[in-house]
Amino acid sequence: MNEEYTEKHQRLSLYDKFKFSCHKGLSCFNTCCNDVNIFLTPYDVLRMRRGIGLSSGEFLERYTIALLGEEGLPLVVLKMIEDENKSCPFVLSDGCGIYQDRPWSCRMYPIFPASSKEEGFLIEGKPSCLGFKEGKEWTVKEWKKDQGIDIYDKMNESYKAVTFHDYFQKGNKLDSGKAKMLYKACYDMDEFKRFIFETRFFDIYDIEKEGIEKIKEDEEELLNFGYRWVRSNLFGEDTLKLKDKEMDKLLQAKRGKQ
Ligand code: SF4
Ligand code: SF4
Repeated sequence: MNEEYTEKHQRLSLYDKFKFSCHKGLSCFNTCCNDVNIFLTPYDVLRMRRGIGLSSGEFLERYTIALLGEEGLPLVVLKMIEDENKSCPFVLSDGCGIYQDRPWSCRMYPIFPASSKEEGFLIEGKPSCLGFKEGKEWTVKEWKKDQGIDIYDKMNESYKAVTFHDYFQKGNKLDSGKAKMLYKACYDMDEFKRFIFETRFFDIYDIEKEGIEKIKEDEEELLNFGYRWVRSNLFGEDTLKLKDKEMDKLLQAKRGKQ
């Protein structure tokens, strides 16, 4: 996180109160949407690209930078415009142009989880942010509700089951093939959808017809299915079941190696 953001470090529980309000009348309005590092979760990408009507591939290409974390996990960052302010590509004179689908961290600001392992929240804001001088008071719980964060937390929780998996705690890293697999299933969802619907995928995996329809029609279901596929393929979890004949083939192949 940018050093400027560490000015305030008040630690809060879900029911603690803080004062904050952000609105157009403030002289700092929009200044926080420049030159900022925003890491996007798969659900952020789903919402943003669906909101502006782009395919996942087009959105990722146009608006993001893909990096690799230490464990080989893909990190997706929102690409700022190359103007003098390094503006967010979505900021307009009257505020966020994708407000309904803005990313998790833009919603949470100025509250952030203390850490991935601890309960509680930190309040962190730029010194130039005038929102703290406004009188409106919230508990963290009220703020999260107001900002529509619950669905993001729910979807991100499923992604954490991938990124905080024991596999990494034991010191393993993803090779580039596995990192690409994860990126496709979690971020480039249109590509993943083509992969599962235009190959023999459902001849191999035992998925109920009803489940297949849901994955086809509902992008949140598709993303959750992507997480299950990743956990099955990368970590050997039983999040997906092979059809009996495929399982037989697998066992025969294993026996053949012994
Ligand atoms: S009050 Fe803070 S969050 Fe709102 S526009 Fe100003 S700097 Fe940004
Ligand atoms: S996505 Fe919206 S709220 Fe977030 S930095 Fe860009 S313009 Fe600001």
